[in-house]
Amino acid sequence: MEQIRNYINGELVSPASNQHIDNYNPATGEAYSRTPDSDEHDVQVAVAAAQQAFPTWSRTPAAERSRILLRIAELIDQRHEQLALAECIDTGKPLALAKSVDIPRASSNFRFFATAIVHFASEAHPMEDSAINYTLRQPIGVAGCISPWNLPLYLFTWKIAPALAAGNCVVGKPSELTPMTAFRLAEICREAGLPPGVLNIVHGYGPKAGAAITAHPGVAAISFTGGTQTGAEIAQITAPKFKKLSLELGGKNPTIIFADCNYNEMLQTTLRSSYSNQGQICFCGSRIFVARPLYHQFKDDFVAATKRLQVGDPLLEETHLGAVISQSHLKKILSYVALAKEEGGTILCGGGQHIAGGRCKSGWFMEPAVIENLPPQCRTNQEEIFGPVVTIMPFETEDEVLRHANGTAYGLAAMVWTQDLTRAHRLANQLQSGIIWINCWMLRDLRTPFGGMKNSGLGREGGWEALRFFTEPKNVCVKL
Ligand code: NDP
Repeated sequence: MEQIRNYINGELVSPASNQHIDNYNPATGEAYSRTPDSDEHDVQVAVAAAQQAFPTWSRTPAAERSRILLRIAELIDQRHEQLALAECIDTGKPLALAKSVDIPRASSNFRFFATAIVHFASEAHPMEDSAINYTLRQPIGVAGCISPWNLPLYLFTWKIAPALAAGNCVVGKPSELTPMTAFRLAEICREAGLPPGVLNIVHGYGPKAGAAITAHPGVAAISFTGGTQTGAEIAQITAPKFKKLSLELGGKNPTIIFADCNYNEMLQTTLRSSYSNQGQICFCGSRIFVARPLYHQFKDDFVAATKRLQVGDPLLEETHLGAVISQSHLKKILSYVALAKEEGGTILCGGGQHIAGGRCKSGWFMEPAVIENLPPQCRTNQEEIFGPVVTIMPFETEDEVLRHANGTAYGLAAMVWTQDLTRAHRLANQLQSGIIWINCWMLRDLRTPFGGMKNSGLGREGGWEALRFFTEPKNVCVKL
């Protein structure tokens, strides 16, 4: 079995303990590689390497940092097929999705921030004839970047690219469930000429290696994407140490469908926003509110379309849904389907484990589920399931649907389908979500603020927001 290694000070190394964790292919249920089970000793060495690299990297001209990051983007593109296959095997997601979304986005993250940094400028505030203020935006030092398993390379690079572009050094930790593409990225960084210690990748469990990064006094900023509960634990550790903190957390996103929408486009996109990546995207819409006059037509068509989705071997071209990330996650999703039944819900389709054939006979697959007859306040409609499970609910008025859409602890994304632009803008103004998609889903411009409100997070990633997060502003006031 391939042995994944940490990337510390430019070298690929085993963890100090020499302990490893089995890494599974969710589509076959078999262990196929081994991940370092790193602990605070490995984090210590990684932080020390990052601290040593920081003075030189932070003073390296932005154009040179940009050149190296662009080279990394180029190498990701050159290895597109290899990386997409690695992501597919590690996560269970369809190969086609890894090829069209995950890997292209990873290289565009590097390309975007490599070019952004050469245009990044800071403000000046002249005080007529008396003084001038200018703001220096300086890299912070060592940043800790902790990312989840659902979009492994895509979300890891979304953090480390702006951190490195801004002149910081990084200690990163991918999820121990999906370490492979971060390992490949380490090989790419060596080849691209990234100086030793600038990026360090420590693999292992969150409560062990991840917690050691967040607690380390030498790490000045933490950028975290993952579950809300983990985000709260990290905030408790980092707040008294006054570390900068960015949290991208869970969601329970509403899809709001009005009777005047462009029906076919809405149906196709809602299918994607419900089940892409087996529903394991923080932006997936899991609560679908449909205007009463359209409800029955939508229900019939949506259930029929859901039943047509192919679940199975992620390597096959015709597969729409691959495996979910782990056996325990599959059990969690199934337990929510059972809860939905207890709460009085009607399962219109799916909701059970899917037994695939051939090489995937022991994989962790799930039939996509549509559930109705549940009130908006029940647990199924309040808690994040993070799987291919949606509920559908009719609504009568705009006020009513707005109340229900906003009626959860989360506030990540909301989708609105209507041809009435006045109504769309009115709702966008009132929805409590960091991201609103009107007549679309996952249409992304990397310059826009990315993140959620309420229990969905703290701060924003993307564009200048990310570069501001990864720099410390310093005002300089000069008397004239
Ligand atoms: P987790 O919160 O379990 O883990 C996220 C990362 O944090 C992993 O690398 C994990 O390591 C690590 N971690 C776990 N515990 C700690 C700790 N105490 N200290 C430091 N690090 C820790 O989330 P999942 O990986 O299960 O990801 C799914 C969640 O991520 C969902 O809630 C989803 O909504 C959210 N998400 C949010 C996005 C957003 O942009 N808002 C985007 C994508 C996902 P390990 O896995 O190795 O234990």
